[in-house]
Amino acid sequence: MPEGDTVWLAGRRLHGALAGQPLTRSDFRVPQLATVDLSGRTVTAVVSRGKHLLTRVDDDLTLHTHFRMDGSWHLYRHGDPWHGGPAWQVRVLLENAGWQAVGYRLPVVELLPRDRESDAVGHLGPDVLGPDWDLDEAVRRLAAEPVREIGDALLDQRNLAGIGNLYKAETLFLERLSPWRHIADIDDLGAIVRRARRLLWINREHPWQVTTGVNRRGQEHWVFERAGRPCRRCGTAVRSARQGAAPYDRVTYWCPTCQPQ
Ligand SMILES: [Zn+2]
Repeated sequence: MPEGDTVWLAGRRLHGALAGQPLTRSDFRVPQLATVDLSGRTVTAVVSRGKHLLTRVDDDLTLHTHFRMDGSWHLYRHGDPWHGGPAWQVRVLLENAGWQAVGYRLPVVELLPRDRESDAVGHLGPDVLGPDWDLDEAVRRLAAEPVREIGDALLDQRNLAGIGNLYKAETLFLERLSPWRHIADIDDLGAIVRRARRLLWINREHPWQVTTGVNRRGQEHWVFERAGRPCRRCGTAVRSARQGAAPYDRVTYWCPTCQPQ
């Protein structure tokens, strides 16, 4: 599941492969950009903002992509086989002398004038892994909706950007807080935000997402996707339920003993 750390790592790798070099080919497999050709133009930077990726081209264009549920970018050397999915799932290809960058299953692929980047990311709260990280501002935004449930509020990218369903569930377990607790009933929002940021931070340089400290299959997480199985701390069956208003509702996971309401 792409969360802020996944996008951060994709941005860093793409920046390393593409930045500072002219594109030798581009191929947009989305109808609205089918005729666009960026060959000859130079990628100047690739940066992440929460779960959004901004690929800056020359000084006037930005390619905005978003991963949503299962999008991804893959890097290949010329001639290497592509393995990110079937060819029909490719949305965009950017190529230079050394690399092919292939975007799979990206639900958002749009080209923006550079001065309109804010149309794509201006609504976001402080980026958990970004240079603009601001703990106090994230807490201020969360606190502004006192009757909202914390599990729902942490996923709202307008409060803080980068946390997805996995880190939300794991953060609240580690903080011993029910995802159903109202913001107004939480003493230390800052502790939750710091915990979430730390989990993303320690996972940012690799593609796996471990919150237990145990990087073995089936042991990576405390409660995420463990509904019905015993809590690793107390043995109570982990519960799951949908939370939030449709269409943004997500399945949340919690231990009713460790995280009392
Ligand atoms: Zn428990």
